[in-house]
Amino acid sequence: MFTDRHILVTGAASGIGLATATHLAERGATRLVLVDCDAAALARIALPCTLDLLPGDVSDEAFWEGAASFLAGLNGAVINAGVAGAGPIADLPFAQWRRILSINLDGAFLTLRAALRAMADGGAIVATASAAGIKPEAGVAAYGASKAALIHLVKVAAKEAAARRIRVNAIAPAGVETPVWDAVPMFADRAAAIGRDAAFVELAALATPLGRYAKADEIAAQIAFLLSDAAALVTGACLVSDGGYTL
Ligand code: NAD
Repeated sequence: MFTDRHILVTGAASGIGLATATHLAERGATRLVLVDCDAAALARIALPCTLDLLPGDVSDEAFWEGAASFLAGLNGAVINAGVAGAGPIADLPFAQWRRILSINLDGAFLTLRAALRAMADGGAIVATASAAGIKPEAGVAAYGASKAALIHLVKVAAKEAAARRIRVNAIAPAGVETPVWDAVPMFADRAAAIGRDAAFVELAALATPLGRYAKADEIAAQIAFLLSDAAALVTGACLVSDGGYTL
């Protein structure tokens, strides 16, 4: 399915990024460029295709200058690295606001720009946004604002890149059972009290009509669909994969 594809995945050492890289490698991707700031976790990745493992911070412009030679001829990209954080606006330290915006939005912009510069004619880009960027939720100002802006950025990029036959889409999960939740105090407190699995079940039952959160593998398969020729006419879309959370 992804034979001869050369695809970049950021945030590839954990959660959705790792599941996506695995999914693509197992379906024939020829070459994957995997980026993550967790160098140790990145170094442990072994997949059945040519791998370029690039430790680095997606929000660092100099990192992308250094990575350019690995990206030449790229035909797919998954803009996925991100961090969470929560707290009411009145109590939110500016440094926390800046950190979330810097990684989730500046980092996404730099990744998108690097991917667009590296692609010749034709390609597909998918950004991991979030249902938090669609439905306002108290306590999620920085994260929600970063993801709302990312969805807008994707739509602008889709218009700009269409003439080069490059499609750009977003995916918006509500909850996915990955380590990103450990940075959300409400979840971390419940996980400490009743266990991680039970905390996910409880949160999902409260928040989603379908009553459960996603597994990283499910989101990876949907990202792969958006990257694939099966989605050849899909561009500028945001695939809401949230169990009905935003309804
Ligand atoms: P995760 O914590 O398992 O993985 C995120 C990865 O990004 C980690 O490996 C981390 O080291 C890396 N990373 C963080 N900052 C980085 C930086 N500055 N440069 C390079 N790498 C960096 O989390 P996940 O749930 O797999 O999250 C992946 C994406 O999915 C994020 O953008 C997140 O906002 C989004 N998302 C997650 C959920 C969820 O419920 N888990 C829901 C909606 C959207």
